[in-house]
Amino acid sequence: MSNITARLTRFLAKRNHQHFINGAYQDSYGEKQIAVINPATEVEIGKIPLGNKEDVDAAVRAAKLAFHHNSDWRKMSPDDRGKILYRFSELISDHSESLAQMVTIENGKLIKDALSSDAGGAAKTFRYYAGWTTKIEGETLDISQPQKGGRQNFAFTKREPIGVVAAIVPWNFPISIAAWKIAPALAAGCTVVLKPSEETPLSALLLAEIAMEAGLPPGVLNIVTGDGRTTGACLTAHKDVKKITFTGSTYTGKIIGKTAMENVTGVSLELGGKSPAIVFNDAHDLDFAANGVAAGIFRNQGQVCVAGSRVYIQKKVYDKVLTDISHAAQKMKISHGFDESAQLGPLVSKGHLQKVCNYINSGIEEGAELITGGTENPLDKGYFLKPTIFSALDNEKSIISEEIFGPVLVAVPFDDMEDALRLANDSQFGLAATVWTKDISKAMTMVNRLEAGVVYVNSPVRSDPGLPLGGYKQSGIGRELGKVGIYNYTTLKSVNIVY
Ligand code: NAD
Repeated sequence: MSNITARLTRFLAKRNHQHFINGAYQDSYGEKQIAVINPATEVEIGKIPLGNKEDVDAAVRAAKLAFHHNSDWRKMSPDDRGKILYRFSELISDHSESLAQMVTIENGKLIKDALSSDAGGAAKTFRYYAGWTTKIEGETLDISQPQKGGRQNFAFTKREPIGVVAAIVPWNFPISIAAWKIAPALAAGCTVVLKPSEETPLSALLLAEIAMEAGLPPGVLNIVTGDGRTTGACLTAHKDVKKITFTGSTYTGKIIGKTAMENVTGVSLELGGKSPAIVFNDAHDLDFAANGVAAGIFRNQGQVCVAGSRVYIQKKVYDKVLTDISHAAQKMKISHGFDESAQLGPLVSKGHLQKVCNYINSGIEEGAELITGGTENPLDKGYFLKPTIFSALDNEKSIISEEIFGPVLVAVPFDDMEDALRLANDSQFGLAATVWTKDISKAMTMVNRLEAGVVYVNSPVRSDPGLPLGGYKQSGIGRELGKVGIYNYTTLKSVNIVY
């Protein structure tokens, strides 16, 4: 293991962690705790409180007070708010090693990915939205209401911060996905209560320390730790929450959507995916495409919402491309995340490993051909799995219709573009897709007809703060990141002045 930073050593020495409310770590009102496990070693690294209703009430109260009274966050000039967010992004970069090490310890992912995607991604997102504080605009509108007595009118819209935001995030990119929500919400002038995943709560608590150092006023960002059923449910049902922003499974998203409607709370849902990669005969470079498809599914152990987990390969090149992807998979070095030569780390938890193995077993039972991988753990300790590839003839199997969220790829051959579109769009999900061809007309036809919120041509999908992300169909409601990302946290007021 690389040397743990002094900052992280001090943070981890605490063992019994606390919520972060109103600018300070605070004990829970309850007694219950959840153990946080290092998935590479299976060793407990600390405990977090299982937040109950009183904890959630305290966090929402702090956020509401900070929004309305205590801090000048929403009234602060956009420039001053932007300066604090920019400072936060700089401090995340300064402490990226501690943050990345924390993510690797609690999530298992490779340290280079934790540095680039998690710490690096969070810093980039705060930097991006720091610049947006000064660019939130309404419009002037020429409306057609007649005015009596020679009067005139002036109509315009203005955007206002929506209020207290509940942000609920998954474990696969613990701090970068949290940043996708916190940064635009704070930039808009909102205050936030974050509930990180119970699998990976510690990096968020460490991020809170850094937020305070950046000068974020108390109550502007609060963190309540706990599970979904108790803590998450209390938070989403809270009457003082004005916006819920959720990233996680479609199953949980549906529960949260119903709760939101009971209180008529605004809601954005970033949900699951089963994203297709489509490789045509005329892909510019078939090796490049095969490596791109492998990277698109095996990065982060396949625990990526936009992972290309089904690959459709045109018949003429099916055997070659599938063989190349399989070779790329077989060559991957499987080891713990601090091993700098590792290419695949452990899955996040024992339960998740079991879920992925169950899918592999059902793929075998349903008659898909196992090309490489399987359920055997390649190491003695930790929740590891070999990259696994199936070949199938159609979409009629659970491994190709359901989200597995692990290093499992299913390949299916196709005849022509219509066939590829039929197979790719035949899914309850619609998050992302990749297309591999050098024919620009074909690429554009696919772009236009694929039912997916994000389409990449000749590259695996990557996120960027400037590029909106979100899904068609059961992959979600709304978009985050980019310009639309900030409007998630504003509400529109229409004004007409007669003079
Ligand atoms: P999950 O739905 O089990 O949990 C996500 C979060 O919701 C966790 O913090 C959990 O504690 C909380 N939660 C669970 N039940 C809840 C409830 N009833 N009320 C309130 N909160 C509740 O998902 P996961 O296993 O943590 O993450 C994996 C899923 O996330 C995958 O489906 C993946 O596709 C999805 N995901 C989507 C995106 C995207 O941008 N669309 C990005 C990353 C992950």
